[in-house]
Amino acid sequence: MPETIIRAERVEKYYAQPSENRIQVIAPTDLSIVPGEIVAVLGPSGSGKSTLLRMLTGLSRPSAGQVYWHEAPISNAQINVSIVFQSFALFPWLTVQENVEAPLKARGMEPGERRKRALKILDTVGLDGFQAAYPKELSGGMRQRVGFARALVVEPEVLFMDEPFSALDVLTAENLRSELLELWQNKTIPTRAIFLVTHNIEEAVLLADRIIVLGRNPGHVRTDFKVTLQHPRDRKATAFTQLVDYIYKVLTQPEAKPPALPQTPEGKRVRDQRQMHYQMLPHARPGGIAGLLELLLDHNGKDDIYRLADDLAFEIDDLLPIVDAAQLLGFLTVNEGDAAITPKGAEFANSEILRQKELFRTAAVENVLLLRQIVRAIEAKSDHTVAEDFFHDLLDEQFSEEETVLQLETAINWGRYAELFDFDASRRRFMQIEKLAPESDTPSAEEIDA
Ligand code: ADP
Ligand code: MG
Repeated sequence: MPETIIRAERVEKYYAQPSENRIQVIAPTDLSIVPGEIVAVLGPSGSGKSTLLRMLTGLSRPSAGQVYWHEAPISNAQINVSIVFQSFALFPWLTVQENVEAPLKARGMEPGERRKRALKILDTVGLDGFQAAYPKELSGGMRQRVGFARALVVEPEVLFMDEPFSALDVLTAENLRSELLELWQNKTIPTRAIFLVTHNIEEAVLLADRIIVLGRNPGHVRTDFKVTLQHPRDRKATAFTQLVDYIYKVLTQPEAKPPALPQTPEGKRVRDQRQMHYQMLPHARPGGIAGLLELLLDHNGKDDIYRLADDLAFEIDDLLPIVDAAQLLGFLTVNEGDAAITPKGAEFANSEILRQKELFRTAAVENVLLLRQIVRAIEAKSDHTVAEDFFHDLLDEQFSEEETVLQLETAINWGRYAELFDFDASRRRFMQIEKLAPESDTPSAEEIDA
């Protein structure tokens, strides 16, 4: 068997919920990091990329399964890894040099040696002359250089990075990427493997020797393959764009979904459910859905999602929720990375705003269990209002707290747009939409309240 540096065996992660339920965010997963590879991990947000990274670095314990460092359980091992975060995570009260020396100090290295190593790595990453600066004096790109220097100064055997270029402007990111690749390829740094979490497909194809794509709910490996393109890689080369296109297709292929989806006939849907199983509402705005459908109609009703993203100058992470939402509403279908508008979608895209709202309303009630339930609950109550908490408690059986809040936010947004209900943000209650009352000189008690 080839040597593995880190090996995860059937690792899983659950998070406890206030309701005593557990949310599984990582399904049983096997994964190895071997010498000589840059591994890139792609996946929609929430698919557990960061969670997986944290388990592989020993920062977080798996709920089940085991992580091995050179075949010894990681909790007993002397591991040598470092992590670069998107947010830089520098100490603002320390100078650049002190920030870079911090991990060496933590390892008990004496000041002379610390200083020598820090200066050397600062030179390597192009920070010569900035030793005495404080983070706030630096641009984002320079701060991330400090992030890299601090990670590299300990000469990690594996360098982990969690979306390290995401907070930087395009040119700075490109510049840092190629410098990192150069350090790696020229073996200027003794690092033996790199594990990169990213949501940028091109970044993955540009850098990685191996790409892993995660799916979500719970996070799992959808595909894991080698990239054999020669360096330097040319973004315009056919092999490059084909690979990018392929990954888009993997990411946009419908995943195994809970039963409550538009494909199933309406009558069957609810009864078939063993328990209430909410779909994950994609966090897209109705305006964005309309915009996408209009563009698609413009492209004769069908186009490659990759090209659509390109046309819109969107990252996949920004476009996918919109595509998912349109799909959930029955306005488009996705097949092998091609989005095709449905007759309903075409009618929606062609209509003016009031008719659009009507069509959206019908589609939302038909296809979205949560919205249907909110509407019914409002109808059923004598005062025609329902507390948000009621649905919060239902949803958090299935979603994390953070996701529950987002799900409700999206439902409120869609419901308001579709004029299914209104939401009183101060009392956190869903309520019936007030019909235009005949004009009156004296405001009602409620109006004074508001
Ligand atoms: P990614 O990095 O792919 O965006 P994460 O690993 O950050 O995904 O999160 C995966 C899922 O786990 C998300 O649904 C997130 O809400 C949930 N999650 C992450 N950390 C916690 C936590 N401390 N408690 C509860 N849920 C969490
Ligand atoms: Mg993350």
